[in-house]
Amino acid sequence: MTDAASSSVWTATVLTLYPDMFPGPLGLSLAGRALEEGKWALDARNIRDHADDKHRTVDDTPAGGGPGMVMRADVMCAAIDASSDAPGPLVYLTPRGVPLTQGLVREIAAGPGARFVCGRFEGVDERVFATRPGLEVSLGDFVLSGGEAAALTMIDACVRLLPGVMGAQASGDDESFENGLLEYPHYTRPQEFDGMEIPAVLTSGHHEKVREWRLHEAERITKERRPDLWAAYETKDAGAPLR
Ligand code: SAH
Repeated sequence: MTDAASSSVWTATVLTLYPDMFPGPLGLSLAGRALEEGKWALDARNIRDHADDKHRTVDDTPAGGGPGMVMRADVMCAAIDASSDAPGPLVYLTPRGVPLTQGLVREIAAGPGARFVCGRFEGVDERVFATRPGLEVSLGDFVLSGGEAAALTMIDACVRLLPGVMGAQASGDDESFENGLLEYPHYTRPQEFDGMEIPAVLTSGHHEKVREWRLHEAERITKERRPDLWAAYETKDAGAPLR
C-alpha cells in the first residue's frame, strides 16, 4: 500500500470495516501494476479504529425496531473526520445515491482522488449524511452486502482512466457511454469461427466504411437494448457531455 498523505498521485482513501478487502482485485492486472508503479495510491482505513469502547463497537440496533444493525454516527463521523487529510470529495456508496455513470467516473478521475465510505449491515445512521455531506453514489438498483464491492468497482473505473494506466485504450471516444452509445461489436482472428465470418467491412481496409459500420452498429445495439440511452442520444445537443 502506498502512503497517500505524502503522495500527489490520484488517491483512493477507503473507510471500511474490512480493509483486508483492498486492494483485492485492484492489486492484479492493469490496476495492480499501476498501483505498484505509483501511478495511483490506495489507503484503506479501518472504521473500527475509531470505536472508543472496550468492545470496539461500530453498530447498534435500529431505533424504531426492525432487523439488523445500523452503523453508529459517532464512530462513522470520527472515522470521516480523521480522513480529512486525504484528497478529494467524500463519496458514500449507498443504494439511494445517484447512479454511477461514466461521466461521474471521469469527473472523479480528473480530481486528486476521493474518500470512499463503505456501509455494512442495514446501513448508516442518517446523521452521518446530515452532518458530513458528501456525494451519495449507487452502483445500481440492487442491494450489496457492503459498500466495499461498490468502492472497488468505482475505483477500478477511475483508475483505468488515469494517465499511463491503460494508454490510448481507455480514452477512445468510441467506448461505451463516451458518446452516449453502447459500443459496437468487436472481432478478432480466427477469420471464421463456428461457421461465422468476421464482417467483411472490417477486413476491407476502408477506414471510413469501418467507421460508418461501427457507428451504425453502436446505434442499432443501443436502440435495441437501452431505449433510455437512445432517447437521450437522439435529443442531445451536439457535443454536450453525457452523464
Ligand atoms: N438496508 C439498505 C441496504 C444496506 S446494504 C437499503 O435497503 O438501502 C449495506 C451497505 O452496502 C450499504 O450501506 C452500502 O454501503 C452498500 N451497498 C449496498 N447496495 C449498494 C449499491 N447498489 N450501491 C452502492 N452501495 C451499496
